Amino acid sequence: MRKPIIVGNWKMNKNNAETKAFFEAVDGVAASENATYGIGCPFTDLRTALDHAKNLVVAAENCHFEDSGAFTGEVSVPMLEEMGVKYCIIGHSERREMFGDTDETVNKKAKRLIKAGITPILCVGETEADYDAGNSEKVIREELAGSLADLCPKCVGEMVIAYEPIWAIGTGKSASVEIAENCCKIVRDQVKVMYGEEAAEKVRIQYGGSVKPNNIVEYMAQPDIDGALIGGASLKEDSFTEIIEKTK
Ligand code: PGA
Repeated sequence: MRKPIIVGNWKMNKNNAETKAFFEAVDGVAASENATYGIGCPFTDLRTALDHAKNLVVAAENCHFEDSGAFTGEVSVPMLEEMGVKYCIIGHSERREMFGDTDETVNKKAKRLIKAGITPILCVGETEADYDAGNSEKVIREELAGSLADLCPKCVGEMVIAYEPIWAIGTGKSASVEIAENCCKIVRDQVKVMYGEEAAEKVRIQYGGSVKPNNIVEYMAQPDIDGALIGGASLKEDSFTEIIEKTK
């Protein structure tokens, strides 16, 4: 019932020529009625990506919640909207850890994106220390309580939420299928607690953290995992193509 959504997150990688080459190689493979495939890329690559995307959806990796003003180096939601961007990653753990994003600012970004009709891909996930201390559930529920505050049930149902344990990101140490499913189930339950059954049934939840061609299928087979947010394996044309082909 929920349409799977698999999105690459290039982070701070690839220039325009590389973006063009990637889309020329991969976009055709991404044609599917059964699933949505996309790429999150740096702001500087968005125009090129949008110009070459027929099947892949294009996501920004961040945005500012204010529309304009004295925010040197930032990019606003209306700027993304005008370009034709339809998805935006917010609250990635790298932004939370290195650039001061908080549940409060992530919540403001979610609100502004929803108002513009851009689908937020909201990231949550615990650190290794929290995982070791048995605090995963507490962290996930708290991050969602803050990041999803004061939205409407319909809006939340239309969002994408990515559960990404920080200890699994870029480490090659992916979460076991059991942990990933259990935490994605907690995400869905928290949405239910906050916005009710319908939003919880509708919201698409991704697992992220060292997803590769050799483990994507088992994650996708889990009842509460509707997709994946993929860093390293989305950078290579052949590995992202393989991920698409295995999940079509
Ligand atoms: P990874 O990154 O696939 O390289 O672990 C995932 C992410 O940061 O979204």
